[in-house]
Amino acid sequence: MKLGAHISTAGGVSAAFARAQEVTAECMQVFTRNQNRWASKPISASEAAEFRRLRRETAIGPNMAHASYLVNLATSDAELERKSVEAMLDEVRRADQLGIEYLVFHPGAHMGAGVETGIRLIAQRLDRIAELADDDSRVTILLENTAGQGTVIGHEFGHLRDILASSRNPARLGVCIDSCHAFAAGYELTTAEGYEAAMQALAETVTLPKVMAFHLNDSLRDCNSRKDRHAGIEQGKMGLAPFRFLVNDPRFADHPATLETPEAEAAYARELAVLRNLRQ
Ligand SMILES: [Zn+2]
Ligand SMILES: [Zn+2]
Repeated sequence: MKLGAHISTAGGVSAAFARAQEVTAECMQVFTRNQNRWASKPISASEAAEFRRLRRETAIGPNMAHASYLVNLATSDAELERKSVEAMLDEVRRADQLGIEYLVFHPGAHMGAGVETGIRLIAQRLDRIAELADDDSRVTILLENTAGQGTVIGHEFGHLRDILASSRNPARLGVCIDSCHAFAAGYELTTAEGYEAAMQALAETVTLPKVMAFHLNDSLRDCNSRKDRHAGIEQGKMGLAPFRFLVNDPRFADHPATLETPEAEAAYARELAVLRNLRQ
């Protein structure tokens, strides 16, 4: 497993590499645009070239872009749908421009329309995004599993399978598993049996080849709390066991995995050292 972190792009997206190196990240996740706004500023050709140069020079990767939190592909509201599809398309183009392999996004919230309707709408909109994206796009869009708060879709691995199965372009899609979200959604990852049961559930739903990346976060809240509250490594309810299972799992030996822990760059180096110590 390639161990990295979500890195700030303050000062320009290519500034993330120096911070990633400082915290010993082997791969990283970034926001390529302001995650809380609909508007975005284009990435200049020189900024993109610098990002690609640093990628080659540092060998940090494979990398992930995390999509805007405003995006909701499960919405039944026409205006939010239009903005969400447009923003996702922009996210795909930016990731392609930078040579970022994966675009991670939260599948969305159905807001009362029901899980089945939400899943159908997400798949339709992903198809539209795939059609509108450039033919030579290389970005794989990853559905992130969720904690299951409110009406969000994706807390059951079966939801993710159903989205993949409903899409006309499943080859362009994959899954990113967030350890905190899985635990909060009720997957008991803290024992060997619980971990294997969760992996079995993944294998039987989305299938393991579709699991392409991880977010490594502990959880402030209990298993099955359905609350998305990240904790630092060794700071939450999960303890180290789930991370020991993950970093030593040969099925995920080449997968990128990034921290999204609350103290961010102040704690990443220490947290990554703790994770590396778990390697056997
Ligand atoms: Zn996450
Ligand atoms: Zn989260």
